[in-house]
Amino acid sequence: MRHDVNPVASWYEATAQRDAYPEALGEITADACVIGGGLAGLTTAHELQRRGLSTVLLEGARIGCAASGRNGGFVSNGFALGIDSVEKRVGLAAAQALYGFSKEGTDFVRQTILANQPELIMGHGWRMALRHPDDGGLKAYVDMLNSQFGEQMTYAAPEETRKYLNSARYFHSLSSATAFHIHPLRYALLLGRLAASAGLRIFERSRAQSVSKEGASFVVRTERARITARHIVHCVSALDTGLHRPSGRAILPVATYVAVTEPLQQDSIRTSSAASDTRRAGDYYRLIDEGRLLWGGRITTRVSEPSRLAERMKGDMLSVYPGLGNPRIDYAWAGLMGYAIHKMPLIGRDADGQWFATGFGGHGLNTTAMAGLLISRAIADGDDSYRRFAPFAPDWAFGQLGRLGVQGSYWWMQLRDRIDEAKAPAS
Ligand SMILES: Cc1cc2nc3c(=O)[nH]c(=O)nc-3n(C[C@H](O)[C@H](O)[C@H](O)COP(=O)(O)OP(=O)(O)OC[C@H]3O[C@@H](n4cnc5c(N)ncnc54)[C@H](O)[C@@H]3O)c2cc1C
Repeated sequence: MRHDVNPVASWYEATAQRDAYPEALGEITADACVIGGGLAGLTTAHELQRRGLSTVLLEGARIGCAASGRNGGFVSNGFALGIDSVEKRVGLAAAQALYGFSKEGTDFVRQTILANQPELIMGHGWRMALRHPDDGGLKAYVDMLNSQFGEQMTYAAPEETRKYLNSARYFHSLSSATAFHIHPLRYALLLGRLAASAGLRIFERSRAQSVSKEGASFVVRTERARITARHIVHCVSALDTGLHRPSGRAILPVATYVAVTEPLQQDSIRTSSAASDTRRAGDYYRLIDEGRLLWGGRITTRVSEPSRLAERMKGDMLSVYPGLGNPRIDYAWAGLMGYAIHKMPLIGRDADGQWFATGFGGHGLNTTAMAGLLISRAIADGDDSYRRFAPFAPDWAFGQLGRLGVQGSYWWMQLRDRIDEAKAPAS
């Protein structure tokens, strides 16, 4: 299945300046061809080029115009699947190694930004609040992350939580000092510029239509070009699950939403850190330039934007912070994430020799960087660290049935969250 995307009328697009890259035309040869110009494709292509492979990046629309340039902007260690669940599946030592890669992804984003455009970091830290009193589970989780995964999390009582996030909905919280938040679209555009100046050939409006093997090389066809390359890397997330079936059939598209208010004078959110609740499908938000509130939440399996999106998002904000009054919503948009059934990224190589990096879910800012590093090292240097992801190989995601399953499990998660909250004492 294929979904067309175009730059959306988001706050990010309104505050970024795009460079134009040409369409791919005619016969092109390269050592490597990366398909998809989100953060996974941009990082992989840049790293390949830097390692001496002449590389081409094909983007069907504009670079960073999909999830990579529309997301919440929270950069933190870990994966969409909680590390405790990763550990249950692969054991402690393997989980620690995977977590280490995810940290490397976080560091890569931080260092790339600090070395080039430090203003793209918009704040430091991330506080996650429970919407019911802690029964000991959150405290144990913080201790486990700190002792076994080298995190630096702190645990806070309700009074402390509400000093920063002044909502009667919140109780205990955990806070990460190593997380930070960024302007994700400007970061994607920065990667494009750095890669282009390293010699990467970026082509926009150049959708790959097919990939075939011819001798020792692969041939990628777009509407107006034919690209021959020894190495292919698929980084198209949920937007074209038909192009590379072995990874595409394992991906479920999941939509999530963001709204940005007008600049606010308010006393509800008293931190420049990122914030969220800990629900299974919760709210995430942060104050951005001029005191605007950027608010994300909700997931669905529908691809089109729901009606009255801005109103619905405002309703979510006010249910947590009635003190915000009646803010005007200046921007609201949807974005599509790709999830594997097991919620871990799909990183590897198929029997034909084609590479794939997809399925980053709602935790893609560090993990796309991590995947770009792992795959470029594998291709350029023969490093096989990417094989650590073998326990999370692509599994068929059951197509339409899988989407119904995701929607069903979201409703189930919402119901469980409501039951947990209903048990909370009124405060
Ligand atoms: C609203 C929202 C909020 C989020 N918040 C966060 C957050 O705060 N923190 C976090 O870590 N993660 C977050 N995420 C997740 C994160 O944004 C994604 O995991 C990550 O951006 C995925 O990057 P990607 O490169 O795999 O895919 P994408 O960004 O989707 O890029 C794929 C690209 O491939 C191109 N493409 C598709 N088919 C073809 C083809 N045939 N030929 C050429 N090009 C093609 C598309 O045009 C697109 O540009 C959020 C996601 C959304 C949607």
